[in-house]
Amino acid sequence: MANTLFHDPASYQEAGSYRLMPFQFERRPNGSVLLTNQGGEFLILASSAFDEFVAGRLAIGSPKYFDLKSRHFLTHKFNATTARVAASQWRTKKAFIEGGPKLHIFVPTLRCNQGCGYCQASRADIHASGYDMSKQTASSAIDLMLASSAQAVTMEFQGGEPLLAFDLVRWMTETAADRVAMSRKTIQFVICTNLTCLTEAHLDFFKQYNIAVSTSLDGPAHVHDRNRPMGSSGTHATVVGNIRRCQESLGAGNVSALMTTTVRSLANARGIVDEYIALGLNSVFIRELNPYGYAAKSAKALGCSLENFLLFYREALEYILYLNQGGTFINEGYASILLRKILTPFGVGFVDLQSPTGEGFGVILYNHDGSVYASDEARMLAEMGDPTFCLGHVNDDWNTLIASDTMRCLGAAGVAEALPGCSDCVYLPYCGADPIRHYRTQGDLIGHRPSSSFCRKQKAILGIMFDLIEDPSPKVQDILLGWLNPNRRCLPGAPWLS
Ligand code: SF4
Repeated sequence: MANTLFHDPASYQEAGSYRLMPFQFERRPNGSVLLTNQGGEFLILASSAFDEFVAGRLAIGSPKYFDLKSRHFLTHKFNATTARVAASQWRTKKAFIEGGPKLHIFVPTLRCNQGCGYCQASRADIHASGYDMSKQTASSAIDLMLASSAQAVTMEFQGGEPLLAFDLVRWMTETAADRVAMSRKTIQFVICTNLTCLTEAHLDFFKQYNIAVSTSLDGPAHVHDRNRPMGSSGTHATVVGNIRRCQESLGAGNVSALMTTTVRSLANARGIVDEYIALGLNSVFIRELNPYGYAAKSAKALGCSLENFLLFYREALEYILYLNQGGTFINEGYASILLRKILTPFGVGFVDLQSPTGEGFGVILYNHDGSVYASDEARMLAEMGDPTFCLGHVNDDWNTLIASDTMRCLGAAGVAEALPGCSDCVYLPYCGADPIRHYRTQGDLIGHRPSSSFCRKQKAILGIMFDLIEDPSPKVQDILLGWLNPNRRCLPGAPWLS
């Protein structure tokens, strides 16, 4: 009896020609061609295979044909199903935008006890007055956070040094937790602290509310102490001791650190990575100096050229890979974010690398004086005297802030797919628009990509990522896959380790 549920197998045979789907491409230095598309898929082809593909000469049914078809670089017949599958893939990549800003940054005080030459926040003196948030402002800011449409929010305390205003941090945490309990939202807490004035009371409180600790560690004492002094002394010994206390009390997974690259870091790539390993930290985030606050003023003395930063980045990354090959698990934070964007179907809510921009769409900042900004960088700019990206005040309602003219401007300039230079760039699916940085560095929200340092950095680091992805060693591939899990603290059971 004929099976009427299925078509005849012959009807699944593809014949005739195929159609190209939209994609971007770039010829790589080694002669291969990298193709990417809006859904974030990529494929690396030999130059001859690429030429055959675009000329329509690829044999239908060949392995290369199916490789390209399964990744939506070509289609046999363009129909509603093809469009639906591609749209669903794109929607998954852009899911980070659903629900609005999830990261809500609070600045309980701008006062700080350290004197870092590269401070981007334009800190105030530890004894200065007029730089602490009032309870009334804090209460309104918490209400705004809970009025936002995101179901799961992160409340992050920044500064200045937030532990200098610990009573307020405690009150804000308790208040937010109480108000969340009466809503359907969930909340997690993060405190960004220099860890120089940590007490047992702080630790008990962090534990009680499961507050994750994020700190700064620039490397060994001779680097960290010069970058991050307190008066005439260094802070390295205190910070290292307090990282250990936090790990013991809160669990290693609740403590992270990042480093800022200065001219003092350049000759110390290995020492910096070793410092993180000695502390049992599973990730080192290599960050360049940002052009805000005191960092902008001290860039000549402390900063380094983009070329030197990239050399440093590559050296540190190669060392990290070498250590992983020997069985020590540690990842580089920025590379891990990029690899998650490249190797998984999902987007990543990292503000600098979002399109539409994360500024105002993924993050909102409530400053100590009640002003509300589209991002941390937006308030850093305001502390420098330019309040362009102030959305309003905590006394405004949520809809007024989020529909402000400033947000409209950011939205208009914040979609990389529509920006000159980005719209046909091969790295577009993994990159971001970052209009506030371009406003700051180029005086224009849209910016000029050929002369943009952000763009040059992105192209260089994404180029390194694809060099690694092309690396034929299974060890390297296992390591990169291991970095996709941000909570991993040991190496996967890769066969080459046994
Ligand atoms: S910023 Fe540069 S690297 Fe990123 S998508 Fe735009 S052109 Fe490409």
